[in-house]
Amino acid sequence: MAPDDPVAQDTRHVLHPWADLTVLGKQESLIISEANGVEVSDSRGKKYLDAIGGMWCVTVGYGNEELTRAIAAQALKMAYFTPFGDVSSEPAAKLAAMLAELSPGDLNRVQFTTCGSTAVESAVRIAHYYYASQGRPEKHHVLARVNSYHGSTFLAASLSGKAVDRTTFHYESDWVHHLENPVHDPDNAQVSAQERVDALTAGMEAAIARIGAGNIACYVAEPVLASGGVLVPPPGYHEAALEVCRRHDILYISDEVVTGFGRLGHFFASEAKFGIVPDMIVTAKGLTSGYQPLGAVLVSDRVANAIAEAANPEKPVFSNGFTYSGHPVACAAAIANIEIMRREDICGHVREVGPYFIRRLRELRSSPIVAAVRGDHLMACVECHVPGEVGPTARNQAMARRVDAYCEEAGLLVRPYENLCIMSPPLVVTKGGIDRIVDIMAESLARAE
Ligand code: PLP
Repeated sequence: MAPDDPVAQDTRHVLHPWADLTVLGKQESLIISEANGVEVSDSRGKKYLDAIGGMWCVTVGYGNEELTRAIAAQALKMAYFTPFGDVSSEPAAKLAAMLAELSPGDLNRVQFTTCGSTAVESAVRIAHYYYASQGRPEKHHVLARVNSYHGSTFLAASLSGKAVDRTTFHYESDWVHHLENPVHDPDNAQVSAQERVDALTAGMEAAIARIGAGNIACYVAEPVLASGGVLVPPPGYHEAALEVCRRHDILYISDEVVTGFGRLGHFFASEAKFGIVPDMIVTAKGLTSGYQPLGAVLVSDRVANAIAEAANPEKPVFSNGFTYSGHPVACAAAIANIEIMRREDICGHVREVGPYFIRRLRELRSSPIVAAVRGDHLMACVECHVPGEVGPTARNQAMARRVDAYCEEAGLLVRPYENLCIMSPPLVVTKGGIDRIVDIMAESLARAE
C-alpha cells in the first residue's frame, strides 16, 4: 500500500474514538469517502447500506442538496463570529426560536454547544447554577443510571453508567450516583410493567433518602438508553420518575441526543411519546442530520429566569459556553434540516416504518445465536450469544463481531458494541431498505452460527 493511501495514513496515525486497542495500527481503517441517501461508499469503491445512521445522527439522508447549499451559503455570508456576551448571528437566533417552538412546555431558552457531551455538561452546570442562585450550593449531587451513556468529556463520562466508559481513571465522583437501569423486556420479564415501574421508583426514592434530597440538583436520563444497549423502559416509568423529581425539588434533564430529531417519530420524545415536560432537554446529533457538529440545551424559562434574577453586579456573568457555541454554519445546517424534516414529514415517516423495522427485526429471534432483539422505532439492537452463555462475555462479544464482519462483507454497516449489533438507520430509510437490512442480518447470523 502506498504511504499516501488514506487507509495506510489513517491506520498509522489516527486514534479513533472507541478504537479497539488490541488491533491499533494492525487492523486497516475503513475510510468512508462518499455517501448518498442511505448508502455510503468506502475509499475502494465498495457500497454499504448504512444501518448506523453515521452514529445515530442522519435524518434527511446523505448528499441532501438543500442542506448542503444552506451550509455553503452561510459559510460565504458569515462563517464565524464570537457568540460571547450579547453577540449572536442570524442562524443562531432563528434556530433558538425554532427549537423553543418545537420543544414542550416553557423550554424557551437555548444554550448552544458543540456536541452532545458538552450539552450534557452544560445542562448539569445550569442545574448547579440554578440551586446556587437559590442560595443552595450544597444541592449539587447528580442522579444518573447504570448503562447510560452521556458522553466522553470528564463530567459526561462520570455520569455515564458503564464502568467501561469511565475506564480506570478515577472518574468516580462522590456526587454522581447511578440508579438501576430501567430495562423491561416484555419477552423475558418475570414481573408486570407496573411492578417494574414501582420497583424502580422505590429504588430512586431509597437513593434520594440516602443522599438527602437537599443535596441533589438533578436527574439525567435518556428516554431510551441508546449506547447502553437500546434499553427500553416500561410504560409509565418516565412519568413516575418525573413525579419523584418534582416532589423532591430535583431538576429533570432529558438527554435526547439520540431520541430527539425524529428517531422515535417526534422532534422530541419526552412529551410527545413519554408524556413528560422536563426542566431541560439536551440535543445534538440529528439536530443537523450529522452535517455539522452542534449541540444544544433547552432550558425552561423557570430555571433560566431564576438564574438571571439572582445575578448581581459583582457576579453578573454566566460562565459556561464555548468558542463554537451556536456556530453560524452549524445553525444554518440545523435550520435547513428542520425545514426539510417538517416539509417532508420525516417524523410521520418514522412513525410508519419504525414499527415495521422492529417487527421485521424480531423475526431474527429464531436464530440460536440471538439472545434478544430490542428497540423502538428506528433505534434497535440484536444481542448475540453463544447459546447458553449470558451477557457480554468474551465469546459473546466475538460472536457479535463475527456477525458484524459478515454484514460488512455483504454490504451492510451495523455498529458492533460488546455483544450487540446496534442499528439506527437514516430516518429516510424505506421499507425496502429495512428488508435489505434484515435479510443481510439474517444471512450473517446463519453464517456465524
Ligand atoms: N448523550 C447520548 C444519549 C449519546 O448517545 C451521546 C453520544 O453517543 C452523547 C450524549 C454524547 O454526544 P457526543 O458524542 O456528540 O459528544
